Amino acid sequence: MTEGRGGFEGLDACVHCGFCLQACPTFLATGDEADSPRGRIELMRGLERGDIAATDPALFYHLDRCLGCRGCEPVCPSGVQYGHGLEAARARITAARGVSRLARLALWTLTTPGVSGVAYWFGRLLRATGLPRLLAGWGRFGFAMGMLGATKPGGRRRDEAVRGGKRRTTPTAPYRPLPPLTAQLFRGCVMQGLFSHIHEATQRTLAVNGYQTVEVSGQVCCGALHAHAGLHEDALELARANVAAFGDGTEPIVVNSAGCGALMKDYGRLLGDERSQRFAARVKDVTELFAPAPAPGAPLDLHVAYDPPCHLLHAQGVAEAPLKLFAAIPLLELVPVPGAAECCGSAGLFTLLEPEMSRAVLATKIERLREAAPQVVATGNPGCLMQLGAGLAAAGIRAQVRHPVELLDDAYRAAGRYE
Ligand code: SF4
Ligand code: SF4
Repeated sequence: MTEGRGGFEGLDACVHCGFCLQACPTFLATGDEADSPRGRIELMRGLERGDIAATDPALFYHLDRCLGCRGCEPVCPSGVQYGHGLEAARARITAARGVSRLARLALWTLTTPGVSGVAYWFGRLLRATGLPRLLAGWGRFGFAMGMLGATKPGGRRRDEAVRGGKRRTTPTAPYRPLPPLTAQLFRGCVMQGLFSHIHEATQRTLAVNGYQTVEVSGQVCCGALHAHAGLHEDALELARANVAAFGDGTEPIVVNSAGCGALMKDYGRLLGDERSQRFAARVKDVTELFAPAPAPGAPLDLHVAYDPPCHLLHAQGVAEAPLKLFAAIPLLELVPVPGAAECCGSAGLFTLLEPEMSRAVLATKIERLREAAPQVVATGNPGCLMQLGAGLAAAGIRAQVRHPVELLDDAYRAAGRYE
């Protein structure tokens, strides 16, 4: 755990100005001060001082309903580190109250090696039947089906990437000079289990841009879901395992899941040693590795709504790199959607544990997307892909959900950049 006050000190700068209120999706959904950043900061300060017990139902009711999206941070003129404070408060509450059975079951199923392999295998099997998309809806079961349906590769058919049993991953002519640079690929749990096609697109598009991706054995779950659930010791254990697995090289560690990348960039603060700080400095979102800009692709005549993941935009501060990726695809038009930077309501296990608030936040976004009418909604995080995909399917909107690198991959394929 971190030294000092464990993250509560990040809240000290709050001067109660309220500038953050209109950036908070849960405050906008309920209008309740206790569901706003300012209200929650007061609760967390009371917890730290000992004025409010960690088992006080009003405390955890309102903190459980926080998405942890950190949309309140960039708009705060005082530089309050809300996310660090929330992490400290959740750790204290979890120590006193424990973790719900549902959260434990979800973590066990999604992140335990062996168990998760079987769960994802079953998920892929069910996905292949096409049933999840047919059964998508707003109820608990229908929404879960919609989430699974949204993980299906959306553009080209999977077998189009394979010719004669060999995957076409070699660029015909690398855009950057040889010899290639190397990047270590972080595979993650959900990304590896349900979005391996995005890993493949990541490897191909990076190859065009001069990066050879190398596999790293011994890597584990990033720990983000555990950290969000308040299981800090579990998250730290996973962080230590990853720091050891990726070693002491200098090559970048490429991550295509914003939630994983945000926590991995924070390993240095969480573990507090120099090796972890060096690790954290190497972590890059895939869009950052295309700097200064990706090689251009062929034109794609598409209207795309970009929904920046909170953990990319707010937590990592990566705003321009995804836009440069889209700019490398001629004809692709970005459709402006009001409130695009607001959370979609996914937020790790939030969609499962707080379905009512999660759907309330999502519903606003889906109605705005209905008005904007894009053909594709692009976002760089597995939870957001699933949440938005499920919401679009439940609302009967036909737009696809895609990771930005999938679109670049399509543009490169159309441009003949792959052998
Ligand atoms: S968190 Fe920042 S923006 Fe919100 S009330 Fe406190 S000082 Fe103002
Ligand atoms: S993290 Fe998100 S939901 Fe939580 S208080 Fe900040 S803006 Fe609101």
